[in-house]
Amino acid sequence: MDLQSLIRDIPDFPKPGIMFRDITTLLRDPAGLRYTIDTLAEKTESLGAECIVGMESRGFIVGAPLAYKLDVGFIPVRKPGKLPGEVHSIEYELEYGMDCLEVHQDALKPGTRVLIVDDLIATGGTAGATAKLVQQIGCQLVGFGFIIELRDLQGRDRLPDVPIVTLVEY
Ligand code: IMP
Repeated sequence: MDLQSLIRDIPDFPKPGIMFRDITTLLRDPAGLRYTIDTLAEKTESLGAECIVGMESRGFIVGAPLAYKLDVGFIPVRKPGKLPGEVHSIEYELEYGMDCLEVHQDALKPGTRVLIVDDLIATGGTAGATAKLVQQIGCQLVGFGFIIELRDLQGRDRLPDVPIVTLVEY
């Protein structure tokens, strides 16, 4: 299936000069959504993940159905102050300034095999920080899954050396 034809390009969002790859048009297409999750599942199944970690917020949309399909649990990584329980946090650099991600302390145990999932990898900052967070807990990172990779930004170079599954490249 030609997934790229279901992804909408929106110029100058969220700021001038940025070409935003909008997956809402893919998500609302029943065959496109099914193909996306089924193909990610096929390509990641052999990694033997025991849980999926997905980042706020589009990582939830991809990660939860993928976890269902792989018959494992889903763990949300959220922006600061959103999770109600005790959290582990990680700070990471943005283009301008810093950001932070959090996960519940009791959600992941050392040794757990984790697959990190998001809709898109750009610079790799978000996925790289999430990888550090789960590795600091002592989890075993088995791979990454993304619908879209923006290759020019070389995000994969910022990630640990584990398999990276992507479906559409720009
Ligand atoms: P990175 O941290 O630079 O790799 O950016 C990836 C994060 O930004 C992901 O959580 C994406 O959801 C979001 N993102 C960046 N650019 C786009 C885009 O063009 N479309 C959708 N999400 C994007």
